[in-house]
Amino acid sequence: MAMNTTAPQGYRLRLPGPTEVPDRVSEAIARTTLSHRGPEFRATLAAAEERLQPVLGTKNRVLFYASSGSGLMEAALVNVASPNGRFLIVSHGQFGERFANIAQTFGILADVIGTPWGNDIDIGAVEERLRAADYRAVVVVHNESSTGIVSDLASLGALVRERPTLLVVDSVSGLGGVEMRQDEWGLDIVVSASQKALMCPPGVALASISPKAWKVINGNDRFPAFYWDFRRALAAAEKGETAFTPAIGILSGLLEALEMIHEEGLPQVLERHARLSGALRSGGSAIGLDQFGLGSRRSNTVVVFKPPPAIAGSDIVRALYEQYRTVVAGARNKLSGKVVRLGTMGAFGVGTILTDVSQLETVLAKLGHPVVPGAAVSAVQKHLVAN
Ligand SMILES: *Cc1c(COP(=O)(O)O)cnc(C)c1O
Repeated sequence: MAMNTTAPQGYRLRLPGPTEVPDRVSEAIARTTLSHRGPEFRATLAAAEERLQPVLGTKNRVLFYASSGSGLMEAALVNVASPNGRFLIVSHGQFGERFANIAQTFGILADVIGTPWGNDIDIGAVEERLRAADYRAVVVVHNESSTGIVSDLASLGALVRERPTLLVVDSVSGLGGVEMRQDEWGLDIVVSASQKALMCPPGVALASISPKAWKVINGNDRFPAFYWDFRRALAAAEKGETAFTPAIGILSGLLEALEMIHEEGLPQVLERHARLSGALRSGGSAIGLDQFGLGSRRSNTVVVFKPPPAIAGSDIVRALYEQYRTVVAGARNKLSGKVVRLGTMGAFGVGTILTDVSQLETVLAKLGHPVVPGAAVSAVQKHLVAN
């Protein structure tokens, strides 16, 4: 049986992660595998940490794991959980629900503030809960990839700053594409992963931990952990290593990706994400693809469209692949069929967005939706001229 195991001609990976990997990064990954205890890899690790710190907006040490993002979501919870401590999980989408599932799996006490998917998180509700009860941590997703809404981390940080409560943040799909100021905003644990705006294949996940959080992690009332024990990871980091075998190649790639981010300039990178995600939204709305949800804090790294009433999102996803080998996302949750999601993160430019909307236009027309040819491309151009 013939098997297709490689990307077909013209393949475009337009998911909200994993994302397209630039050649420079792929080449760095393909280099000779280094000893993870040798000088070359120590230098790689040190440089990656140093170049990540400004992206995170932190002076904290950065801990690296061979893992996908969810591993570090779990790690963040188990390292600060205690048998009697209660979490406040602020959930506004699929990844917020994942945090709640992780807590439930471990028997961690948790209250969940759910926000209708597509809405902004309710800061007032968080404030109310914090006044009413003692929480060990507030847990939130920075950039909810399932809905395209960003949390107001500065406001959440201000709420926990004067309390013993920690703020745990999943910025897996935000970091590198959406503004992040960990220290300034008072975020205690930020976790992320390599395969989104950091332009790498999956394989590396990371955590940055505040001094306030270390006090809790170093306490003796915490949950057990082995691979995920941040204390073990920090002890290794202090020696310039990782505790366990890291994803060596991906870390070389991550260093290269970070070089690219700093060559372009971090403010310029964030600006590009803002400008081009806005352009994609404009292009979509010109052909009947409105932004999903009612929230106002729209993501710069993922655009979530609501398809026209007569068309299923899954049909658009399928048609883009069949006609163009362009891979975009639908949903594998309660929004299944109701959304079309495109990543606007990492290595992408104006040409990417123009191709996206041009293909969306054709696909929608073929699915029977009336579109004025060129309308989406024109709306993108107008947005780019005005911004
Ligand atoms: C992609 C993503 C994750 C991690 O998913 P993995 O498949 O485990 O890497 C976590 N949170 C958010 C918001 C994400 O977008």
